[in-house]
Amino acid sequence: MRADYHMHTEFSFDSSASLSAQIQSAIDHGLEEICLTDHYEPAYPGLPLWQVDLPARAKALRSPALAGLQTQITVSQGAEVGLLDLPGYGAEIHQLVTENQLDFVIASCHLCQGEDPYYPSFFAGKTRAEAFSLYLTELTSLVEHTISPADFSVVGHIDFPAKGCPYDDKMLRYTDAPDVLDSLFRYLIVHGKGLEINTSIFRAMGKDTLDITWLKRYRTLGGEIITIGSDAHKPQDVGYGQAAAAALLQEAGFSYLTTFRQMKPIFHKIS
Ligand SMILES: [Zn+2]
Ligand SMILES: [Zn+2]
Repeated sequence: MRADYHMHTEFSFDSSASLSAQIQSAIDHGLEEICLTDHYEPAYPGLPLWQVDLPARAKALRSPALAGLQTQITVSQGAEVGLLDLPGYGAEIHQLVTENQLDFVIASCHLCQGEDPYYPSFFAGKTRAEAFSLYLTELTSLVEHTISPADFSVVGHIDFPAKGCPYDDKMLRYTDAPDVLDSLFRYLIVHGKGLEINTSIFRAMGKDTLDITWLKRYRTLGGEIITIGSDAHKPQDVGYGQAAAAALLQEAGFSYLTTFRQMKPIFHKIS
């Protein structure tokens, strides 16, 4: 199974890729399935438009041209939900997931104590381990307290600070935050949730790999649910790093990767 389970389209404020361009690129890259995961994050400072219009996207996918493309590839409907500590947010996300009959939801942290770790100011005065530890502590707390486990499928890019950090060695290491990672992994495993390998981190680091130690640790603790996603905002990035990610999964002891239908995991042998 070659499935890219994280990508954005013109229905995300930060992508201008049309639905047809993303789907066509996935077909051209030999993918069998993709999931559209446009942003839903209604309180990012200064940007009120991080909210995908899911009914409009679903309607567009039913157009004759896009329906034709979907005879060549499975297109699942998802969202990347920003984790936010707002009153009533969990109920809002529950409504979003159920009303739009989503297949898959990525729960992502893009704000850590009000700052976006994509930008250099987040890292001022912090070592890499301190920056990752702070981010993962915030991520774990938000996952546990702001969203019902019924309303998400995987946690997105746990190594997100690697994208913007100024360090020579950008890669998240298990040893940067072992206790926090263990507590996040245990929560996800107990609640039947998963992780993703986000290959946009490969692109940001300039090497198609990750610290296998944290991936192995997730597996050792009983983690089974894992998706691979390019986080492509442009057609040329769709499907990026699929083979490298699948090889890393096998090296870490995984035999299956996961896709989702109506929020339920489907396991596919990694070949
Ligand atoms: Zn994200
Ligand atoms: Zn994304």
